[in-house]
Amino acid sequence: MSISDMQSNSSLEKIANSTQSADVLRVLAKDRIDLNDFAILLSEAADLHLEAIAQEASVVTRRHFGNSIMLFTPLYISNYCSNECVYCSYSRHNSIRRAQLSFEQIAAEADAIASTGLRHLLVLTGEAPDITSFDYIRESLSHLSSSFASVSIEMYPMTQNNYATLACEGLADGVTVYQETYNADLYRKLHGRGPKADYEFRLDAPARAAAAGMHAVTIGPLLGLDDFHREALATALHLDALIKEFPATEFSVAFPRMRPQAGDFQPAHIVSDREYVRIVSAFRLLFPFVGITMSTREPAAIRDGMMKIAVTKVSAGVSTAVGGHAIENIGDTQFEISDGRSVDEMRIAIERVGLCPVWVDWDTKRMTGS
Ligand code: SF4
Repeated sequence: MSISDMQSNSSLEKIANSTQSADVLRVLAKDRIDLNDFAILLSEAADLHLEAIAQEASVVTRRHFGNSIMLFTPLYISNYCSNECVYCSYSRHNSIRRAQLSFEQIAAEADAIASTGLRHLLVLTGEAPDITSFDYIRESLSHLSSSFASVSIEMYPMTQNNYATLACEGLADGVTVYQETYNADLYRKLHGRGPKADYEFRLDAPARAAAAGMHAVTIGPLLGLDDFHREALATALHLDALIKEFPATEFSVAFPRMRPQAGDFQPAHIVSDREYVRIVSAFRLLFPFVGITMSTREPAAIRDGMMKIAVTKVSAGVSTAVGGHAIENIGDTQFEISDGRSVDEMRIAIERVGLCPVWVDWDTKRMTGS
């Protein structure tokens, strides 16, 4: 997909801006919706029908995912970063405690996380290839794969060859890459210097990961940077193109909202709770089979509510510091979390809303024989 395809969503934006209440009701009466209908559900007119939209999303979620809610936790192994993302604590200009875990520390963190029952792990780093090299990442992942059924990475965008190496060696089966904003001009302003300034290399990373044989790929915008209608529409176009190009890949989407972080950046486009529910519910109706992940950026009440509506995967027992599970936090956090519940508390919360916690839905070793 070309960048211009992604940005030529102005006609969809016009739909979102000119929608009437009757248009929303007409969309809700459909069995399947298309991108134009999705734009209608994002409109301000849809707010009046938010309850009905959320109910419909809930029905579709249960139809395609049953009562299951996947559990995972992030593991930050390094917070060194050579980028200048103005909205992130790890930006190289911020004076925070920097750290990178040794392989022994990684193994200790893995043991502590595995002892909670979790079998799906998301491993994160900043983007500092001179320090957090590909060889370091590869070796780090080798200390994790025996403890977990599935290991995903949320790191700097890699080449297809590097993704293929991790996938073929059974070291990682999933990749998460947030585009942050699909607005290319804004992207360049927010990302200054550093490798992340390359908008297109980042935009193509999910396709490279899928082409390299990664089982699961997650994308999404960082809500708060630009107008949410525009970001949601661009995300939908991106996802739609990826699904068509890589039908065998399991795609998911996530909509992190900005949280307090180091530095003085203030988001220009705060997304309210009602708007947030509208975005996520509309995604569920447009993409019935796509997983929706929700992190602990959101508070417990929103997470519990959204699990009933559209979310299919949540984190638990979270620390966004480097270390924090078995060893003391040795590097500062990326952002403040809003939901500090332990793995067991999340299990109980999932069951309390009538859903079923799932610990393993993919096992790389079984699927690849590695
Ligand atoms: S968002 Fe990622 S790349 Fe940007 S400063 Fe933070 S860790 Fe580095």
